[in-house]
Amino acid sequence: MIANWSRQVEQFSSQCEWVGIREYREVTDTLSARNGKAESTESKLSHGVMIEVLLRGQFAYAATIDLSNKGLEQAFEKALAMAACCGKHKLFSFTTNARPPNRGQYTTSVERRLDSLSFAEIQNKLINISLHQQTSVDIIDSWAMAMLVHTQIHFVSSNGADWQQEFSIVSKDFGVTARKNNESQSRSYGFNGLQKGLEDLDDVILEQEAIRIGSQAVELLDAAECPSDSRDLILTPDQLYLQIHESIGHPLELDRILGDERNYAGWSFVSPEDFGNLQYGSSLMNISFNPATPTGMASYTFDDNGVQAEKQFLIKDGLLLRGIGGVESQQRSNLPGVASARASSWNRPPIDRMANINLEPGSSTLKDMVSATEKGILMQTNRSWSIDDYRNKFQFGCEYAQLVEDGEIAETVKNPNYRGVTTAFWNRLKLVGNEDTAQVYGSPYCGKGEPNQVIRVGHSTPSCLFSDIEVFGGA
Ligand SMILES: [Zn+2]
Repeated sequence: MIANWSRQVEQFSSQCEWVGIREYREVTDTLSARNGKAESTESKLSHGVMIEVLLRGQFAYAATIDLSNKGLEQAFEKALAMAACCGKHKLFSFTTNARPPNRGQYTTSVERRLDSLSFAEIQNKLINISLHQQTSVDIIDSWAMAMLVHTQIHFVSSNGADWQQEFSIVSKDFGVTARKNNESQSRSYGFNGLQKGLEDLDDVILEQEAIRIGSQAVELLDAAECPSDSRDLILTPDQLYLQIHESIGHPLELDRILGDERNYAGWSFVSPEDFGNLQYGSSLMNISFNPATPTGMASYTFDDNGVQAEKQFLIKDGLLLRGIGGVESQQRSNLPGVASARASSWNRPPIDRMANINLEPGSSTLKDMVSATEKGILMQTNRSWSIDDYRNKFQFGCEYAQLVEDGEIAETVKNPNYRGVTTAFWNRLKLVGNEDTAQVYGSPYCGKGEPNQVIRVGHSTPSCLFSDIEVFGGA
């Protein structure tokens, strides 16, 4: 696969200012097990090319799975006709400086390749997890899943770009439902995807985690309801990563701020004047766009406009500095952005996406955070979320919580939730966990764009303590 497209680029380039060809090939294997038995195995291939044309300042696209010369010619003609048509109504006139001629290569570093185990061997690992989670007769359902993705991208353009990227991604999740009398509780590991090889499916670690998940589900059956009041809140990375995603990542997307996504994914409470001025959070808050995060699901060298990606601070000492937007949105808005124009597949154009959006570690241990809390609660693992179109008011539910009283972990409570307003919440950030409390999380399910694009995002975060947050119980 992954052809050399330079001959076609040369052939097409005389008819427009610029042409690019992006080949995208992806294999996705999804396996699951339930209650000690294999449940399903699915393998999917997606392979095609996107042809992108710049004609009189207007970009346009056409994609095809017909990789013959004729197929490519037809796609090119379509893209060219689209550029000619749309160019009459263009919002902004682009030049080739929006498509830098970068060359290079990126490959996920892995210890064990995705094809180093058979489906049956991977399935056995999942069966084993589902059995280890069955820690009690009260567990009525026990499941485990893994998704393995291998992606190859090759981009060639008429102004000299030529780069390839190859990603290996392992996602996993597992969990149980426990039931006793009329009470039912679910507990899971929490979906997590990382750029890794099959070394991520380590039996010893997974068995320990499976026993923890099973035991905590049973513990929740006899737990009291989460109180409803205001108290200090400690969040672990398996919840905090989603808080970062929804209340920092999405509102900072420049295409949302420009209104492009207003009709579908929503708008943003952030306005262009806020960059350089808005105190988004407390002075302990440092948020980075980091395409070099080790194991980060969205680590890469080039975004899909071919711009070289590098670490940048979006928020420094709580102050908003920079948005999440690729070169096109930066030129349109005159706002600072990052190399984050990404396409979900061969048949979608790049749009502004989160990549790895991280909360930088601070200096506190988890013990420091608990000790500093007189009346609080520690919540783990996202269960539900809801946030408005402007990414301002939100509420989240978690699977498992422990009260914190006078600097000590106290009883476990069930059905914990909290709510807040974005900048008020982040300004209550009181302690930021150190490197030891940090974990990398990734999700392949971030959706936006019309037509819809579901894409991979990563978030590395330590545990954190927030002061005086509204918490409440209820499933
Ligand atoms: Zn999202």
